[in-house]
Amino acid sequence: MSLFVASLNSGSNGNCYYIGNQNEAILIDAGISCRETERRLKRLGLQLSNVKAIFITHEHSDHVHGIPSIHKKFKIPVYITTRTLLKAQLRNAEAYNFRAYEAISIGDLTIQAFPVLHDATDPHNFIVSNKGVNVGIFTDIGDVTDHIIQNFKQCHAAFLESNYDDELLETGRYPIALKNRIKGGYGHLSNVQAAKLFTEHRPDFMSHLFLGHLSRNNNSPRIVQNLFDDISGNTEIVVASRYKETKLFSIQGHSKSNPVKYSGITTPTQLKLF
Ligand SMILES: [Zn+2]
Ligand SMILES: [Zn+2]
Repeated sequence: MSLFVASLNSGSNGNCYYIGNQNEAILIDAGISCRETERRLKRLGLQLSNVKAIFITHEHSDHVHGIPSIHKKFKIPVYITTRTLLKAQLRNAEAYNFRAYEAISIGDLTIQAFPVLHDATDPHNFIVSNKGVNVGIFTDIGDVTDHIIQNFKQCHAAFLESNYDDELLETGRYPIALKNRIKGGYGHLSNVQAAKLFTEHRPDFMSHLFLGHLSRNNNSPRIVQNLFDDISGNTEIVVASRYKETKLFSIQGHSKSNPVKYSGITTPTQLKLF
């Protein structure tokens, strides 16, 4: 069994990740327009009409910007926490709630959320499973917590934030307050923090690592690629672009992995904003 994954865009200008099997797919975040999402999926041989759900990490516009236009054309249900929905004010979306540690089924895909540290109302990350293949999304996180580590250790593939190079951020032109926000415990992960998580907690069955949410001003794809190429071992390193989609990758299951533990599958309730 395999999962097909791609980054459609990754960065402060918009985030959208595709995860699917042969029959159904989900998006994690919808931070680019409907037209651009459709265009990029099409180039990968995929269609937005096959996407059954969109899971939202948090309300920052680089993660929800595309929701209204996607809803207008495709009416794809959005899975979001109640507090994030209130903050994002996505009035027209068909919204369902999720809660941390409570798994949700979308066909054969199982999605479980866990809380993360970020300066948003109710930020979460996800681990998506399909018959023993696990793909994690670790983005917009100020610090590496036990939650992140435990989930990262189960992943055959992971999308991991690698937002900034310490020196470029330090010597760059951002105001001090913004620098402190980025590198504070509720901001973003640095290249060094991402590399440390990878070297210390990578399971030996992790076949692909996608580095994402790279800062335009405080990082570069070359710096990230070089850093991770040196420590990649047998994991393929892919640096996700701020401007275009990656290839579509097939992630295979492996008998050595631990199944993700679920306390049961929850049926989400529909949320309405009045
Ligand atoms: Zn973001
Ligand atoms: Zn954010």
